[in-house]
Amino acid sequence: MRKLPRVLVVEDETAIAELIAVNLRHNGFAPTLVFDAQAARREVDAELPELILLDWMLPGESGVSLARSWRQHERTRHIPILMLTARSDESDKVQGLDAGADDYITKPFSTKELLARIRAVLRRRTPATVDDVVKVGDLMLDSATYRVSHSDRELKVGPTEFKLLHFLMKNAERVHTRGTLLDRVWGDHVFIEERTVDVHIKRLREALGDAGRMIETVRGAGYRLSVIGHSPQLARADYPAAAVLHVGTLISPDNSAS
Ligand code: CA
Repeated sequence: MRKLPRVLVVEDETAIAELIAVNLRHNGFAPTLVFDAQAARREVDAELPELILLDWMLPGESGVSLARSWRQHERTRHIPILMLTARSDESDKVQGLDAGADDYITKPFSTKELLARIRAVLRRRTPATVDDVVKVGDLMLDSATYRVSHSDRELKVGPTEFKLLHFLMKNAERVHTRGTLLDRVWGDHVFIEERTVDVHIKRLREALGDAGRMIETVRGAGYRLSVIGHSPQLARADYPAAAVLHVGTLISPDNSAS
């Protein structure tokens, strides 16, 4: 069974919180309710949700302050946050977005509007994992057809290695910590040891053969997929403009006739 997207609802007005939770459940989400910032931090520390609905006015620490602190930390930086508030002032909206919220919804809101906003935020935030072809140097990955090739030679890559490679290619030339890789590739790093990343990196390098050298270990930091020094056609000066090329959609899901 597919895992339902977890939504953390941080809202101290229980009637509103319950109403939101019921609607989320009916629409294919798995909500968790908390009523203050402290409980919200505990939940997020335990497991990263797919999205946070965050009330502005909370007892104790405010929603804005919470959003700001989540955005400052590597592990929580990318969680989509939708702010809920009774304020409709334009300057408040700006303040909420400045704090790192992805969007903003003013109470009272309709369930329809809330769901539409949630879906829009998730769409914007979720990296395209289908129908997308990424090319880094001579390495090419097509997530629609599930193919990886190097210099036009097809390579066999396992499912986890494929996801890992996809992330590394889409974020090439940047160093990623093991924690970041677990969050972005595995979804949550709480229940998996960081050592797991090393195991899959090793497998990925083996699967890539010659191109395995492109995956660099950065001592004390993590891993990086780099084309610099590994591709005769690319000089350092060409980076990054020429190094990473998003080729775009080749096949759409409903376009099976070809
Ligand atoms: Ca409130």
